[in-house]
Amino acid sequence: MTKVIAVALPKGGVGKTTTAINLAASLAAMDIKTLLIDSDVSNNCATSLGFDPLKLSGGLINLVMGTQTAEEILTKTDLEYLDFIPTNNTTDNEDKIQQIVHNRYRLRDIIRTEFHEYEYVIIDTPPTMDGIINLVLSSIDSVLVPIKTSYYSLIALSRMLNKVEDIKKTTNKHIQIEGIVFTMSEVNTIATRMSEEKVYPLYGKHMFRSSIPKSTILAESTYHGKPVVLLKARSLGAEAYLKLAQELVVRNKICPVKELVKLSGFEKIGTEIPRDYKLYSNTPNPLKSSTIIKFDVPRESAIKINIYNIYMEQVEVLLDKVLEAGEYKIVWQPGQLPNGVYYYKFDAGSIFKMNKMILSR
Ligand code: ATP
Ligand code: MG
Repeated sequence: MTKVIAVALPKGGVGKTTTAINLAASLAAMDIKTLLIDSDVSNNCATSLGFDPLKLSGGLINLVMGTQTAEEILTKTDLEYLDFIPTNNTTDNEDKIQQIVHNRYRLRDIIRTEFHEYEYVIIDTPPTMDGIINLVLSSIDSVLVPIKTSYYSLIALSRMLNKVEDIKKTTNKHIQIEGIVFTMSEVNTIATRMSEEKVYPLYGKHMFRSSIPKSTILAESTYHGKPVVLLKARSLGAEAYLKLAQELVVRNKICPVKELVKLSGFEKIGTEIPRDYKLYSNTPNPLKSSTIIKFDVPRESAIKINIYNIYMEQVEVLLDKVLEAGEYKIVWQPGQLPNGVYYYKFDAGSIFKMNKMILSR
């Protein structure tokens, strides 16, 4: 089965192209047959792989328009297991994109019929949220989101996740978040710590454990026209992308990305003002039915309810909202959450309460 992953974030310079190239090259270096597709008209993947974009004939847009075949545009690279499809190198790309974006499923059909022998297809995308990105998002299995440790990256992250939700409701109900990875990260800086503090509580389950450090060799590799694994395999940058590739493969083998928890409702169930914060206990085995968590809020407060595993790693965010005083309930189903012991934690800032639950099917 081919897994199709787009590297996307609506913000420039966050490391999308660097991640797409080096992740694809690292997968190929692990003898995994991989195809890298560039959907960004700036054609940076070609340059970074050592091709002169002016000498490449045609590309992705022609393929989707049906004016070129897959064989005509498929390009071999220096890595035996990595092939490449550039984007078109013409000035009228924008007009052509306008013509093809209406046929949202064309790219998906082409990948299914022409590229099924690849284990992974990695697609680099432009930093925009309109045009070709819609075609790409309608055709893929998942999105890998690279973020820099900056406030603007976090805003773009939330736009990206909203976009994925929109796409899920319209043209691709199977789309998932493959994961979020920090790029250009610098240890021990305040910006890194602040970004981590914001991202982990909200998106903990999506975070890759690997992160990509800021590294001069990664920046230099573009000039050499080589993925870093071919330029200097024993470097921090190359190792980081190899680790990311390994983590991605292991995650997909053991536990393909799936919806862990399904939320089916959240409502205020009483208007009486409770005297204190309270978290009520759960049904004994929530897997047998949908699970209801009831809780009391005595005054307006920011309330978070999250699920943790036995290592106290957050696996799911159930609620993160400012609530007025009242009695509330959340109804949810443990979806794909594996069997085991979990905790659900009610957090009202200075006050928190925690209950255990055991899931067994
Ligand atoms: P755009 O949206 O404009 O296409 P992008 O998100 O694809 O940008 P890249 O082109 O991958 O971003 O990276 C932007 C710049 O940062 C490039 O010059 C690249 O070489 C450099 N860069 C990327 N990752 C790293 C890193 N980990 N350490 C140092 N420099 C990096
Ligand atoms: Mg780019």
